Amino acid sequence: MALLSFLGAIQQVTGSCYLIETHAGARVLLECGMQQGRRKDEAGNRANFPFDPQTLDAVVLSHAHIDHSGLLPRLTAAGFKGPVHVTTATGELLELMLLDSANLQEKDTEWENRWRARLGKPPITPLYTVADTERMLKQRRPHDYGEPFEAAPGVQVTFHDAGHILGSAIVQLDVEDFGRTRRLVFSGDLGNSCSPLMHAPTVLQQADVVLMESTYGNRDHRDHQATIDELEAILHQAHRDGGNVLMPSFAVGRTQDLIYYLGMLYQKGRLPQQAVFLDSPMAIGANAIYSHFQEQLEISGEAPIEPQQNGRYRIERWLPVLKTTPTAEDSMTINRFKSGVIIIAGSGMCTGGRILHHFKHNLWRKECHLVIPGFQARGTLGRAIVDGARTVKLMHQRIAVNAQVHTLGGFSAHAGQSQLIDWVSHFQPRPELHLVHGELENMQALQQALRDRLGWEANIPELGDRIAL
Ligand SMILES: [Zn+2]
Repeated sequence: MALLSFLGAIQQVTGSCYLIETHAGARVLLECGMQQGRRKDEAGNRANFPFDPQTLDAVVLSHAHIDHSGLLPRLTAAGFKGPVHVTTATGELLELMLLDSANLQEKDTEWENRWRARLGKPPITPLYTVADTERMLKQRRPHDYGEPFEAAPGVQVTFHDAGHILGSAIVQLDVEDFGRTRRLVFSGDLGNSCSPLMHAPTVLQQADVVLMESTYGNRDHRDHQATIDELEAILHQAHRDGGNVLMPSFAVGRTQDLIYYLGMLYQKGRLPQQAVFLDSPMAIGANAIYSHFQEQLEISGEAPIEPQQNGRYRIERWLPVLKTTPTAEDSMTINRFKSGVIIIAGSGMCTGGRILHHFKHNLWRKECHLVIPGFQARGTLGRAIVDGARTVKLMHQRIAVNAQVHTLGGFSAHAGQSQLIDWVSHFQPRPELHLVHGELENMQALQQALRDRLGWEANIPELGDRIAL
């Protein structure tokens, strides 16, 4: 019989990875995510894969976020030569995100090797290189939603819109073994049905085994309109205080939502700031891909303004005061602004990227405001700030956290608890249900809620568990 192994994003939210093996010898890797957050988790990215990459037939990917895709170049470098199945939009986003990740790996390693040399230590190699990544990108095989394809003999895959970010998919795998077919449905990251740009996650009704994410398994998001009102109130307060507003944001998904919301406030004459800087080359690249795949977006209500220009759709046009700063020199010009601007920059969990430079210039100033618009994993700088750290260490110096910190839960790109339960409740008869991609206490809360509301018993797998499909 076919086997499913739980190899990553088990009782945590990063490092998504599952292996499907059939008795006939097909081997399909579902996700190849990077671990992010705690140093010991990140060290895990360098460990050997718990399988031989050369023996895999294919990789199937739910979406482009690095915690789902980030180790793919390493897999190729370790000998994997098969196809990487993705949706068409994910294929485009993947190029942007993995090349950025590879550049970062190379730069970090170069930096580290400089001080290692001074200490007489041997140099280290990057986790992967741009060359590894370029090789891997040639292995992409794009597919449309709803179009079944064979990933390996006896393993049919269909992508369904997960409504999380552009191109995100719920992955349905029909696995044939010993003449019987079993259906495995992996939720991927399920979108928040309140998202202004994404469709609601596709409802599926039949599966034998379901793997469901549980990032927000413990709670529902705050009401959407209330969150927009709260954002507006924060922006006005920052204006009165005479400080800047910092928004650490994921380049793909969250940033486009923020541009939409800020554009909406601008059009209603309710945005007091004179400029919004988008200080992220990756987010600028993601905007272009979102614009290109505009027909896959479901823009709720009216788009803030008609974004068509010279026959080209550009989502930047939603927000006329948006200024993009692609180069490092452009980025440094933002430091001149001591008040009156909004700065959107990565990384989303404040673990690196240009947001750290803006922290250095703004975080210690009590008139500034920091708006955290998404989930902050344990061990990240963003989580430390949300949890009330009075000082933080960044770029080799300690900085006071005097800015006012706000968490806006309502803008999450993930389904909240009730949305998760609603999505899974459509499967009839009841499938075998496993919870993945969540911190343990959130999973336990979801497990209890499933018991209370549906009378369903869900399993919380341990890392390395293997089940028969
Ligand atoms: Zn994601």
